[in-house]
Amino acid sequence: MNKLTKTQQKKYLPVLLDILKQLGVKLERMEDAVLLGEVDSSGSDGDDIGGQSYTRDMQLSLLENEDEILKATQAAVKRVEDGLFGTCMACKELIPPRRLEVLPYSSYCVGCQEKSENGNLEL
Ligand SMILES: [Zn+2]
Repeated sequence: MNKLTKTQQKKYLPVLLDILKQLGVKLERMEDAVLLGEVDSSGSDGDDIGGQSYTRDMQLSLLENEDEILKATQAAVKRVEDGLFGTCMACKELIPPRRLEVLPYSSYCVGCQEKSENGNLEL
């Protein structure tokens, strides 16, 4: 198994924590918006219900996506703690630094990510 040094791994920790912070704030705001949408529609005269529920669905699907990024980022923080950050969780090769700069929470190298998206990855 290839690994980054502890020092190399820890360089990504502030980046990951920053993502978590940003996502935390955003998630909170979105949850509020979703809840407020429900309160508003129950008190409205009904003219705008279709539009509102459409917006709410979009907010919920965004929330789901951000929730996935949140979970992936939390997992990445845990990998720094475990000393495994930067290693592909499937083939155990190093994830290229350029990929980590763009997607610091990625747990697979490009090849394994593609396989997992195609459903061809066996873990
Ligand atoms: Zn891989």
